[in-house]
Amino acid sequence: MNRLFLAFIGPIFLVIGCQSERTPIVSKTEEMMGTAVHVSIATSKNEKTQGAQSAMNEALEEIRKVENIFSLWIPESEVSRLNQEAWEKPVKVSPPMAQLLKASIKIARETHGAFDITILPLAQLWKEKMQQGSIPTREEIAQAKARVNFGNLSISRQDEVRFLRKSLALDFGAIAKGYAVDQAVHVLRKNGFRNFMVEAWGDIYVSGTFGKTRKWKVGIKHPRAENEVIRVLEVKDQALSTSGDYEQYLDRGKRRYHHIIDPRTGYPSRRCVSVTILAPTSTLADSYATAIFVLGPKKGSELIQRKPGFKAIIIFESKGKLKVIEVGK
Ligand code: AMP
Ligand code: MG
Repeated sequence: MNRLFLAFIGPIFLVIGCQSERTPIVSKTEEMMGTAVHVSIATSKNEKTQGAQSAMNEALEEIRKVENIFSLWIPESEVSRLNQEAWEKPVKVSPPMAQLLKASIKIARETHGAFDITILPLAQLWKEKMQQGSIPTREEIAQAKARVNFGNLSISRQDEVRFLRKSLALDFGAIAKGYAVDQAVHVLRKNGFRNFMVEAWGDIYVSGTFGKTRKWKVGIKHPRAENEVIRVLEVKDQALSTSGDYEQYLDRGKRRYHHIIDPRTGYPSRRCVSVTILAPTSTLADSYATAIFVLGPKKGSELIQRKPGFKAIIIFESKGKLKVIEVGK
């Protein structure tokens, strides 16, 4: 019988089966983008191990580059500079920054503002308060909410970014990790590897197979039961991302406050408890998982159904019970 082992304990994680198969796996983990990033390559021959090590190092290096562009914790990162300067003058941005800005604006329009990368004032406010064990006041929420509006963000054909309001500030927390995973995937493919996975807390890309033919298995964490899995999916050449209300949260009475904010109300979105998106790229899976979480089960499943190559597993609470909707082909 296959023995399963759960490789990581994020919202989604790799479940590797089959002791019997004895596929050599080369893995590496590094702390970056505020989490642990894992790369695993299933090598067909032991002699490939050497190449796998250097490809993994190169892939992780690529993720580091993405972090240096999008991290709000790094004062010299491109996003930190943009947040300081784009009100005073137009700022020419790098190709990765232009790519994520355009992708984010597209999703913001498509979701009528449920997804909005100008969320920073609200995201920061909730984070700070929750860390102190409290919640913001109505006035504080109203003030921060007034600053959030992707319509005040402009990007020219020459990739020059301009903020149309002084108080605008960008936060790529819902999309940059997925993009980083995609960049690592490109590096591994460029180095000739086909069978591997890259995972960064909640965002995973699974390429090829495990062993000769077996598909990699990915488990989705049960949103309300510690150490339980709600689904195990067999996947190949696909990205999966999960956004959940159990990652950073504060429970107050019956209410749960967490890190995924509805820009239209200024409060954490209560429509879902967990959303997993399967998509062709990790950038898309990451951003749509957050977007669908805010849109909710009804509008969210309608949107995913219109998108070829997308699937969604949407978990929400209704009358005190968990319900699961699965959509897409
Ligand atoms: P994720 O864990 O991928 O769902 O991303 C959550 C992070 O994205 C939060 O910590 C915020 O930084 C940011 N965020 C929160 N709400 C939104 C939203 N409605 N649109 C875009 N980004 C958001
Ligand atoms: Mg996301």
